[in-house]
Amino acid sequence: MTKSKKNKPQLSHEEFEVSQAVAKRAAITRYPSPIKAKKNPMSKQEKIAFIADKFRDIMLALDLDLTDGSLARTPERVARMYVEEVFSGLDLNEFPRVSFIEDQYQHDERANMVLVKVKFHSFCEHHFVPMFGTAHVAYIPNGKLIGLSKIPRIVRFFARRPQVQERLGAQIADSLCTLMDTQDVAVSISAQHFCVIARGIEDENSHTITNVLRGAFDTHEALKNEFFEGVNRKYIQT
Ligand SMILES: [Zn+2]
Repeated sequence: MTKSKKNKPQLSHEEFEVSQAVAKRAAITRYPSPIKAKKNPMSKQEKIAFIADKFRDIMLALDLDLTDGSLARTPERVARMYVEEVFSGLDLNEFPRVSFIEDQYQHDERANMVLVKVKFHSFCEHHFVPMFGTAHVAYIPNGKLIGLSKIPRIVRFFARRPQVQERLGAQIADSLCTLMDTQDVAVSISAQHFCVIARGIEDENSHTITNVLRGAFDTHEALKNEFFEGVNRKYIQT
């Protein structure tokens, strides 16, 4: 971001919390994951016990010896990892708290693009194995600036669930549109899928790239180019 040269504004940096209704819409999005609403959802501890039990059965079906010291606690380890870590984004209550400040850096002629690069890891919902990569997320402030640390948190919230890459990009873009009250959002995701690397065509170098271009990023060629220049720029540390 660059500041306007003239009329350097007095900055207040007053933060505004996003309302609960907006946060809820931003957590679900118009591209919701196939999550079943239950009348009596299990507690975290109940989920861990239930999954550990089923995973033990999977291991037994694979003829693994669960009396072996190395394997004995694997079912519980996997269950805990699913519920508390890699799939914690299935719990909508885990959506990050988002606050914003007023944008006082706007150019007279045009707004500045804000671009954030986020490393993430997720799970392919077709094979339940990891996919991991980089998301470039950009938006044009519509009077609001979101804390820069919030964008990685939003990306990781949607990544921490069984996913398909296209939906992950759509959810990030839609969530940001809702939170920032704008249509001008772009998301480019480059990811490697373990299900492609380790099975099927076994191509270690294949990256899948998906883009979501909304609002001015879709209609303004110059802005689209600026976004992809930012995506393709080589950073000192990547
Ligand atoms: Zn897969």
